[in-house]
Amino acid sequence: MKTPKGHEILKIIRAHIEKYKREARVYNIGIVTQIGDGIARVHGLVTVMSGELVEFNEGTTGIALNLESKNVGVVLMGNGLKIKERSLVKGTGKIAQIPVSEDYLGRVVNALAEPIDGRGPIPASEFRLIESPAPGIISRRSVYEPLQTGLIAIDAMIPIGRGQRELIIGDRQTGKTAVATDTILNQKGQNVICVYVAIGQRASSVSQVVTTFREKGAMEYTIVVAEMADSPATLQYLAPYTGAALAEYFMYRERHTLIIYDDLSKQAQAYREMSLLLKRPPGREAYPGDVFYLHSRLLERAAKLSSYLGEGSMTALPIVETQAGDVSAYIPTNVISITDGQIFLSADLFNAGIRPAINVGISVSRVGSAAQIKAMKQVAGNLKLELAQFTELETFSQFSSTIENTTKNQLARGRRLRELLKQSQSEPLSVEEQIAIIYTGANGYLDALEIGQVKDFLKQLCSYLKDKKPKFQEIISSTKVFTEEAEVVLKEAIQEKLKLFVV
Ligand code: ATP
Ligand code: MG
Repeated sequence: MKTPKGHEILKIIRAHIEKYKREARVYNIGIVTQIGDGIARVHGLVTVMSGELVEFNEGTTGIALNLESKNVGVVLMGNGLKIKERSLVKGTGKIAQIPVSEDYLGRVVNALAEPIDGRGPIPASEFRLIESPAPGIISRRSVYEPLQTGLIAIDAMIPIGRGQRELIIGDRQTGKTAVATDTILNQKGQNVICVYVAIGQRASSVSQVVTTFREKGAMEYTIVVAEMADSPATLQYLAPYTGAALAEYFMYRERHTLIIYDDLSKQAQAYREMSLLLKRPPGREAYPGDVFYLHSRLLERAAKLSSYLGEGSMTALPIVETQAGDVSAYIPTNVISITDGQIFLSADLFNAGIRPAINVGISVSRVGSAAQIKAMKQVAGNLKLELAQFTELETFSQFSSTIENTTKNQLARGRRLRELLKQSQSEPLSVEEQIAIIYTGANGYLDALEIGQVKDFLKQLCSYLKDKKPKFQEIISSTKVFTEEAEVVLKEAIQEKLKLFVV
């Protein structure tokens, strides 16, 4: 090898010097002074922002939530068992954010959007802040398209529109999750992306929901965000915002999305735990003062975007659990006042075998009727009133010994209407089927049948319409109106089928 000459050496050295860049990195560092219960008190971190992610020396991350004069209160996002007193903490300069991409569809992730379904990493090139501001007034337009849940009782009487926020509220074990998951199943082929956020549930319940989605082919368009009952409170608190960020990603890409928060009571409890440990002052029911803001800033992110922004939408179905039907507790009243209506599930109805156990009388939808298709309005316009009258009549008739014939007929009609609203789990109905069923009941065609025959008859009627009279479905889906022609076809089908039942 040839030895380099003097000027060559000089050249090499010069090149190296030119390449050398002096860069001073300033880290925002703190020292742990106290640790325990998922909270760390940190001295230092002078320039930390509120909500900034911080890293502990042993790898755990946390969020700086309380900035006080002498210390910073950090909530941990892991168990942090190895953190010691005097451990170093480093500010990252970033507010909590998650990666987002189309590849999240079909996956189960945690509150940090990391996959927990054992199917490998999720490729993503973009990031979104977990907390981002809700669209303003100019960015929105009013709700006008229906979001079909596939449950007759809801679509006919408490309709939900795309971009609406409708609360599902009820005691434990009243079928709240079932209403929400059925709605997701019914979005198949509707071009709606669904996000199911499970907060503080048992891992077995979540895995059951995911299995149902997989079996019914709903996972293709669904993302599940799950933080189980044993996850740190911080992560349970963050999960809904993570879900909202994922849904927003699609909403701003001109897609329709549906997000379910199951449930916000557990999130509020997690937040209460964090706040009390951070020594924030407790208020009513020991919740911190800003628990209203916790839910309002989350639910305000649901929107129907203006045509200028591409008309994407985010429909939110938050779930809240009540104790013994008490809707006047703190969290229920808060969330009722933020949402555009509520679906009330009653334990009494559930136990009486009326499932879904929707109490139609006290359930409302404040914007949805604008989103119902005309055909549904035509056949279901009076349904709510008729049912209300029936319920009242039924209560009164229990006390009287003699009942007139007209009352008897009204009671018989009412019982059949109530029967047709019953629906098993995971069996959503299309809007055409719902219209046919309601028409049949409301016009008295079921009066000749025994109550026990009603379900069977309607099932057969629907499959008969589908196989032998496809015209009915064509008319409704193309014109969205219950035309005279559709009525004639439907009447024919009903009468042909009735012959087989009534001899
Ligand atoms: P939790 O308070 O535990 O979250 P929940 O209110 O979410 O309960 P679900 O888990 O949805 O209630 O339902 C409770 C039980 O009722 C489940 O076993 C479910 O299978 C059953 N169920 C729910 N809806 C129906 C239905 N329409 N028909 C028959 N069974 C149903
Ligand atoms: Mg549930």
